[in-house]
Amino acid sequence: MQSQNHIKALIDPVFGIIARSAQDLNINTYVIGGFVRDYLMGNEIPKDIDIVAVGSGIELAKRVASHLPGNPKVSVFKNFGTAMINHEGQELEFVGARKESYHRDSRKPVVEDGTLEEDQKRRDFTINALALSLNKKNYGVLLDPFDGLGDLKRKLIRTPLEPGITYSDDPLRMMRAIRFATQLGFTIHGDSLRAITENKQRIKIISKERIVDELHKILGSTKPSVGFALLHTTGLLKYILPELKALEGIEEVEGQRHKDNFWHTLEVVDNIAKTTENLWLRWAALLHDIGKAPTKKFHKRIGWTFHGHEFVGSKMVYTLFKRLHMPLNEKMKFVQKMVRMSSRPIILSEDFVTDSAVRRLVFDAGDHVEDLMTLCEADITTKNPRKQRKYKSNFKLVRQKIVEVEERDHIRNFQPPISGEEIMRTFGLKPSREIGILKEAIKEAILEGVIPNEYSAAQNYMLQKGNEMGLKAKI
Ligand code: ATP
Ligand code: MG
Repeated sequence: MQSQNHIKALIDPVFGIIARSAQDLNINTYVIGGFVRDYLMGNEIPKDIDIVAVGSGIELAKRVASHLPGNPKVSVFKNFGTAMINHEGQELEFVGARKESYHRDSRKPVVEDGTLEEDQKRRDFTINALALSLNKKNYGVLLDPFDGLGDLKRKLIRTPLEPGITYSDDPLRMMRAIRFATQLGFTIHGDSLRAITENKQRIKIISKERIVDELHKILGSTKPSVGFALLHTTGLLKYILPELKALEGIEEVEGQRHKDNFWHTLEVVDNIAKTTENLWLRWAALLHDIGKAPTKKFHKRIGWTFHGHEFVGSKMVYTLFKRLHMPLNEKMKFVQKMVRMSSRPIILSEDFVTDSAVRRLVFDAGDHVEDLMTLCEADITTKNPRKQRKYKSNFKLVRQKIVEVEERDHIRNFQPPISGEEIMRTFGLKPSREIGILKEAIKEAILEGVIPNEYSAAQNYMLQKGNEMGLKAKI
């Protein structure tokens, strides 16, 4: 296996430049990590290339930059002994080969210079420790001391060293194992799974930002449920997303059961992953039911209810985003809005779909109405084919109505056709309560379909309503 040559992987002229630069400095150099893994898997070659130098990675990076067209800037991270070059949209990351040892309370290792093999040992997984030589004597040869190639074939996530040590040293690797398993569709080796389960509480020393990075990658994959199920079975979930963990389980009282909202949620996330790449909409799918745990009640006559779970859930989105140091900006507000409105199209489609109900939905959801429909369609997880067909065709009808109502009434980015100033001018009013009442009455009339969303109709309606309120038009 050591003698396999993969010179074809190194077709990009940048490898020639790196090889020459390394030769000038008289140091051995290798491509390692994601590039090699993805090449060998026949996947799309990643933009990022990780280079390990048995010597100074920083010196090598500087040398490479001086040979590259346009002499790109080298970003040096002295504390880590790494350097990065951004070359025509490609990120070249250089690091000196090293061996590491760890303290228990930190994932920051004590670092010493090392050989290639020592460096490969400190890598997280065998499939990430694969290296291709850039040295003259064995250019393109695969160096694979831990049978990473075999693990690629077996679709296995396995650590080069004893898993207990690997995960305890740097608990971020627990998240990475689960993330790679999800992205690549691999299995995590049994010993690794056990070690992750044993070390789960060590996730506490990892920064929220790093955890969220991994969550984003899990959510962004084709079948995110794989990752969340693994987070659940290893016990990591309760440290990261306790709100989701709380949805697990089925309760039965007096013969009445409710569905397991955790596993239901995972189905919804997988469904939505088929229809949208929008990461925040995927977040909304993940969190759409989190309000169900705190609002769950059993009533003798009606059974299980989750009253107001959408509203409670949308509040929880804020707390969750804040705890995970996620952005508290319009992205969070979007997720909140989706969670808050997540039952609206469902209620609507259960009933006779009226134009005014659709108008209200479009008014409240604004530009996010399609996203909301996408979420609700993903929420259909019934195994009853008759119900499945019925819900789907109802939603199709709702979507159709949205288009019709939108074409006619332009409610989406509703601007009241009559302004407050015009109301004041018309009736000679100073700022007062009446203005608000009239504006609201016009809006309601439009949403209810009493009048079309047009200026002259709204003006007549204002005059008529004003009259009823005892106001006299001045103009
Ligand atoms: P991708 O870029 O697709 O996420 P990658 O394997 O390139 O995958 P990076 O995070 O870019 O992942 O890291 C590059 C390489 O550095 C990895 O392949 C792995 O060898 C090593 N590595 C990264 N993070 C760790 C870690 N926490 N512990 C050990 N090795 C790591
Ligand atoms: Mg990478």
